[in-house]
Amino acid sequence: MGKGLGIGGTVVVLALSLLFGRNLFNDLGVEPAGVSAAPAPMSAADSAAEEPEVQFISFVLDDVQRTWASILSNSGTRFQPARLVLFRNSIDSGCGPAQSVMGPFYCPLDERVYLDLGFFDELRKRLGASGDFAQAYVLAHELGHHVQHLMGTDARVRQLQESNPSEANQLSVLLELQADCYAGVWAHSTEQRQKLEPGDVDEALGAAAAVGDDRIQKRTTGRINVDSFTHGSATQRSSAFKRGFESGDPGSCDTLS
Ligand SMILES: [Zn+2]
Repeated sequence: MGKGLGIGGTVVVLALSLLFGRNLFNDLGVEPAGVSAAPAPMSAADSAAEEPEVQFISFVLDDVQRTWASILSNSGTRFQPARLVLFRNSIDSGCGPAQSVMGPFYCPLDERVYLDLGFFDELRKRLGASGDFAQAYVLAHELGHHVQHLMGTDARVRQLQESNPSEANQLSVLLELQADCYAGVWAHSTEQRQKLEPGDVDEALGAAAAVGDDRIQKRTTGRINVDSFTHGSATQRSSAFKRGFESGDPGSCDTLS
């Protein structure tokens, strides 16, 4: 799928995580602050230079959502597409103010994925490559949260977290690993349709591992505290993606039962 992310991408994703002092995929830490007027999706796509990137992101958005609409068509869950908001610097989301330092995230209150184009700029500039599959993986992970929302999984987990605060982090990890697995399920579908290029899957696995809690913690604090994990270790995250990719079956992503 376009130019590969490769090793350099892994490093850059990690470097940005360090710079911001948090996991770039830390997309569940947003406290709901009431629904506010959301801007039009793609409003940031006003410069010609951004068009190819925005087109690629739009392609992935549609492809992931078509895939889930098809997968869920035989289930009791009706697929409603999420919307994507591309922005720069900061924006109001249904889950409160969003800033580029927060990294991409999904807001269940307005069913939108928020992606900062500046974040992808950094990836591209430091990489000297577009890192297409890293972007695709990020988006597929966020849309995995949308699927969880449609299926009511996120609400169930939040309830469990409230009644078992001591297990809140562990439950968060399970939710995140399921989203990684769902991203893998989509990647499986792209392989079936022969849209994958050699190296794409390795790039996704590398990116998933790079944002593992253990890697982030080791680099930022020099030590690893498993109890504070909220997204899973490098091995857990890449394994979850791989499980979805190899099975193509969302049933294999049942990390929560
Ligand atoms: Zn996530």
